[in-house]
Amino acid sequence: MPGLPSAASARTRLLDLLRREGIQDESVLRVMGEVPREWFVPAGLVAQAYDNSALPIEAGQTISQPYMVALMTAELRLSGPETVLEIGTGSGYQAAILSRLCQRVVSIERIPELSRRAGEVLHRLGCQNVELMVGDGTLGVPERGPYDGILVTAGAPVFPHTLFQQLREGGRLVIPVGTGYQVLQTIRKRHGQPQIDNVCECRFVPLIGAEGYPEGRDQTGSSLAERPPGPPGVTGTELPRDPPPDTE
Ligand code: SAM
Repeated sequence: MPGLPSAASARTRLLDLLRREGIQDESVLRVMGEVPREWFVPAGLVAQAYDNSALPIEAGQTISQPYMVALMTAELRLSGPETVLEIGTGSGYQAAILSRLCQRVVSIERIPELSRRAGEVLHRLGCQNVELMVGDGTLGVPERGPYDGILVTAGAPVFPHTLFQQLREGGRLVIPVGTGYQVLQTIRKRHGQPQIDNVCECRFVPLIGAEGYPEGRDQTGSSLAERPPGPPGVTGTELPRDPPPDTE
């Protein structure tokens, strides 16, 4: 539980690991040291809450690997006054991290039950600047935009045109892109045009929706139902290549 010495020391060890793996943004590390990740994982996985690994949550989804949360958050280069759109609320952990680094977070999730549970934890944590929505995030949330930052926590097959349109001039869109082989990209809007930086190789659960993958299909085009079972925590997780993945 938060506040207990065991959680505090596990969190400190995780922060040390993230530093060693190259996360240098001290404000991101600070908030990752404040937010109790154990509140966002299923009860049976609390002991692994500070492992540097993605973990399964309800509805076959994942809470992202702490390294990937830190890296993606740092890529947004937040300084405080920004409005950020997150696609893929999942457990709500990433939204909680963002909420302490910017003015307002809009987070959309396609699975209502996940959004509801995330809302409960965020409320318990006292996050008052996060607005949760249920729907197809591939279409963005134009009525709340434009956004200074957009963070997509599921893998898109192709360049996300609609999301790019909802980005403010000078804003940053951080998103895993690619079929089968995914690359984390940071896309900046400069004079209305995308400037794309490839950050690292990664593997995320599929972004499903009108401008993503069709329901029931994964990034390789095979049916999700046909996918062979893997050990818990491996299917649909994020595996950064550089630095080396924490094998799960
Ligand atoms: N950010 C989450 C966290 O901190 O726990 C991790 C998210 S998980 C890796 C990806 C999430 O994206 C899943 O919850 C999935 O249901 C959601 N998702 C996939 N396609 C989506 C879409 N089109 N719109 C909104 N959410 C989507």
